[in-house]
Amino acid sequence: MLVIGGGPSGLSAAVAAARLGVRVRLVERYGFLGGNLTAGLVGPCMTSYSLDGSQQLIRGIYEEFVQRMMALGGALHPSTIPAGSAYCGFIVYGHDKVTPFQPEAAKVAAQRMCIEAGVELLLHTMVVDAIVDDRDADNPRVLGVVCAGKGGLRSVRAKVVVDCSADGDVAHYAGVHTRQGRESDGLSQPQTLFFRVQNVDDQVVEDYIRAHPQDFRPFASIVAKATAEGRFPAPRRGIGLYKTMEPGVWRINTGRVLRRNGADALELSLAEVEGREQTVALLDFFRDNLPGFEQVELRDTATQIGVRETRRIDGAYELTLQDLHSGRAFEDVVALCGYPLDIHDPTGSGGGTGGEGLDAANIYQIPYRVMLPRVHEGLLVSGRAVSATHEALSAIRVMPPCFALGQAAGVAAALSVGNRASPRHVDYADLRRELLAQGAYLG
Ligand SMILES: Cc1cc2nc3c(=O)[nH]c(=O)nc-3n(C[C@H](O)[C@H](O)[C@H](O)COP(=O)(O)OP(=O)(O)OC[C@H]3O[C@@H](n4cnc5c(N)ncnc54)[C@H](O)[C@@H]3O)c2cc1C
Repeated sequence: MLVIGGGPSGLSAAVAAARLGVRVRLVERYGFLGGNLTAGLVGPCMTSYSLDGSQQLIRGIYEEFVQRMMALGGALHPSTIPAGSAYCGFIVYGHDKVTPFQPEAAKVAAQRMCIEAGVELLLHTMVVDAIVDDRDADNPRVLGVVCAGKGGLRSVRAKVVVDCSADGDVAHYAGVHTRQGRESDGLSQPQTLFFRVQNVDDQVVEDYIRAHPQDFRPFASIVAKATAEGRFPAPRRGIGLYKTMEPGVWRINTGRVLRRNGADALELSLAEVEGREQTVALLDFFRDNLPGFEQVELRDTATQIGVRETRRIDGAYELTLQDLHSGRAFEDVVALCGYPLDIHDPTGSGGGTGGEGLDAANIYQIPYRVMLPRVHEGLLVSGRAVSATHEALSAIRVMPPCFALGQAAGVAAALSVGNRASPRHVDYADLRRELLAQGAYLG
């Protein structure tokens, strides 16, 4: 089988399937694994616990990945990170028990888990098309993909393809119907180029933020004044900043590029340029305006701008805000989550839920069917491109749920290959049994 994309969902899918004895090839466009964990410099991993922080919901491969990073000295266990700490950007709601980690540890842990499971890595390779048997228009079947890399174009066939590209690339090339953005105007969440800074006086930053509880977001009053005077370089109401495990080094999630389609190369290019200019301007702003940042230096910027939202497949089931709000039970549940709605305003500086007053329950469920395209056979779509509304996706798009979904997709794909049945016909009882055997928690 083939897994496309080596981010949280792809690496979990590949490891889960390979451990069931299936031959797995993982195709990744960069020269290392991790996706947003590494190339995006995104972190910390948001909560893997219930919203109230009382129960760890996402275990299995995610927990093992965290333990592997810890053994490398590159992560702190989420059970030790309370809401409101500097590691979670001083945010309380939805931020209890996040996982701080170092991207270099993530790269090593990811590749070791894949190699030890027997996954064949095909790095520096971009999938540019899908091979589809569509002689029966009512029952199209994905047979493989076309890749571009050193050596040119090549086709790679597989019994099952798991699309973990985050943009639903394979699904899109195969003709699966996809949706993008919010219902009202099709606009997606903004993009952000993550960067890290060094030489920050950690104690001064913490002391200032703790002394200003009326600032709902860190440094909000300083940002508000600068915004009113036209001096703040991004549409944001505060500074998104996350302490790392290295003294003086913080991740910055503050830039914001609006109205660019992350699944279009030209628009993505414009977003990269704008994101980099924002980074330069933000650094100057930090140095001149933020206590503790007087001597700040740029450590690095992400390999690519972070894309929060692009295509979502039209799947056998579309997860909704109402499902999350009610904690609806599904007969084919494959993941439990507690991260709440998290919609960054597609048109401006707002944050918040955007869920018309509704938010997710303390624990909610995700069914297997969100990964099954409505008609195409031979294909599963996991991670950020699953079938969910704009609102529901805002919660389940963060990295721990993507690990859980990836693991479920990998197990289902392996069962599908083993039984010579399409992923649509995988027996849920088998899927559940294997997921539990691999350490997943399903309630
Ligand atoms: C700005 C920003 C901030 C965020 N903040 C957080 C946070 O603090 N904590 C958190 O937990 N989550 C956060 N998220 C969400 C999270 O990072 C992503 O939603 C999550 O990583 C999605 O996982 P994935 O496996 O679906 O995709 P990705 O992590 O995007 O991985 C996809 C992989 O597929 C590869 N790929 C893509 N297309 C192709 C192709 N055609 N051929 C070959 N390879 C391909 C990519 O190179 C990449 O390695 C944030 C996201 C953004 C953008």
